[in-house]
Amino acid sequence: MDQMTPLAADTSLIDALREIVGERGLLLGEDVALRSCDPFRPVPPEGGIIVRPASTEEVSAVMAFCHERGQPVVTHGGRTGVAGGAFTARDQIVISMERMNRIEEIDEFNQCLVAQAGVPIEVLHNAASDANMLYPIDLGSKGSATLGGTISTNAGGNRVLRWGMTRANLLGIEVVLADGTVVSAMNRLTKNNTGYDMKHIFAGTEGTLGIVTRAVVRLVPKPASQQVAVVAVPSYDAVLEMLKSARKLPALSAFEVMWQDYYDLMANSNTGRRPLETGSPFYILMESMGYNEEQDEQQFMAFLENSFEQGLIVDAVTSQSLAQVQEMWRLREGGEVFAAQMWPIVSSDISVDVRKTDEYVGKVRAKLSAAYPGLKMVTFGHLGDGNIHIGIHVGPDTVEEELNVEHILYDTLRDYDSALTAEHGVGQVKKKFLPDHVEPGVLTVMRHLRDALDPDRLLNRDVLL
Ligand SMILES: Cc1cc2nc3c(=O)[nH]c(=O)nc-3n(C[C@H](O)[C@H](O)[C@H](O)COP(=O)(O)OP(=O)(O)OC[C@H]3O[C@@H](n4cnc5c(N)ncnc54)[C@H](O)[C@@H]3O)c2cc1C
Repeated sequence: MDQMTPLAADTSLIDALREIVGERGLLLGEDVALRSCDPFRPVPPEGGIIVRPASTEEVSAVMAFCHERGQPVVTHGGRTGVAGGAFTARDQIVISMERMNRIEEIDEFNQCLVAQAGVPIEVLHNAASDANMLYPIDLGSKGSATLGGTISTNAGGNRVLRWGMTRANLLGIEVVLADGTVVSAMNRLTKNNTGYDMKHIFAGTEGTLGIVTRAVVRLVPKPASQQVAVVAVPSYDAVLEMLKSARKLPALSAFEVMWQDYYDLMANSNTGRRPLETGSPFYILMESMGYNEEQDEQQFMAFLENSFEQGLIVDAVTSQSLAQVQEMWRLREGGEVFAAQMWPIVSSDISVDVRKTDEYVGKVRAKLSAAYPGLKMVTFGHLGDGNIHIGIHVGPDTVEEELNVEHILYDTLRDYDSALTAEHGVGQVKKKFLPDHVEPGVLTVMRHLRDALDPDRLLNRDVLL
């Protein structure tokens, strides 16, 4: 086939795919063009073909066919990933998991849930809640982000300091390999050391080793209480002191920090997200979720009062209703607000030793403002896990300057105990920085694994390394 000819014009390819997944399983033309591989801007899949298998067997048959033909694919979940992992080039077809959206079982005795990979996280939450349980992975994109996408990126989110990242909540996995082989390790046992652990081999590998088709995830009993507070804090030392003592709260479930630049932008954005006055250097959103309402509330309030007495907090507001809980979280999760106000934007999701995070942020800000007088920068994130997000706009040339801005962000990171990406993954966006942030031996193992499982690089070819 002529390299410049879109795949969508290849009728033999389309007929063969239709044969496997049926008419409903195939999207072409405008249905493809109107989709985006990015949550914030239009980036259509360039190959022009979306295949939507409805079962593991269909995924397997599609991959067996693609393997025979040497046809590269990109897997799509909810397309909320922000590392460019779902970007699809002209020679690649999309395998979308959107029709594999069934919750198969909630096992109350083993406290787990079995589902297909295309189920959105919010749907899992609702199903778990109906059974009086909680699926602890919670993130701003939960309405669209899928089980398979969150497994493939090992998503983190808001409650990692209590329940860990996706990997920690995964019990079993089913994956289709590049040649169509089905690997079924749908374990629901807590303890199983029978050889290599399949869920850990595939989780966090960004779709490069296999397509996740089903999984078993761990549930916890649904908490009976939820308290949220937003507090204003006078210094980073006070933030660290708060974090140290908050860790002793048995029901602590989130410790999110907003630097003043982020809080002020949100508070001045006319979205009503202004629980406290602006002007403090730091704001913390703290949450406690427990199983004894009276005791949890008493411990949470005592912690806040104690922090006030020590001068660690200068102002605070606590939630009095579920609506206020949601309002406070909307303040912290306001990605769409700052993205709209600062677009175009360079964003990052780094980890730094929590003792040094503000020093790192200060260095980055100093370097960027020296280079770009029009700098707008916001910093916020899951500081309880040492993970922050920095959003940067340097003026109308932000897109042209992206590489330079990224160098400032990531080269500065190398002075610290740090990670290039804490939760979003490497994708296509951070690939060029990977060799500077992991040891050569680690890269070698990654390449060996990929070569062993997908020697022809059919799966997410342009992702990771
Ligand atoms: C507003 C907002 C808030 C967010 N907050 C957080 C947060 O707090 N924490 C966090 O970790 N992330 C966050 N994210 C990023 C994103 O939601 C996560 O990366 C999520 O895990 C992506 O899931 P998805 O289903 O949308 O995957 P997609 O975006 O569709 O895909 C992401 C990657 O996984 C691969 N993939 C998808 N499905 C499969 C599958 N079944 N098998 C194999 N590979 C697959 C894709 O090829 C791609 O490389 C946020 C994003 C937005 C837009």
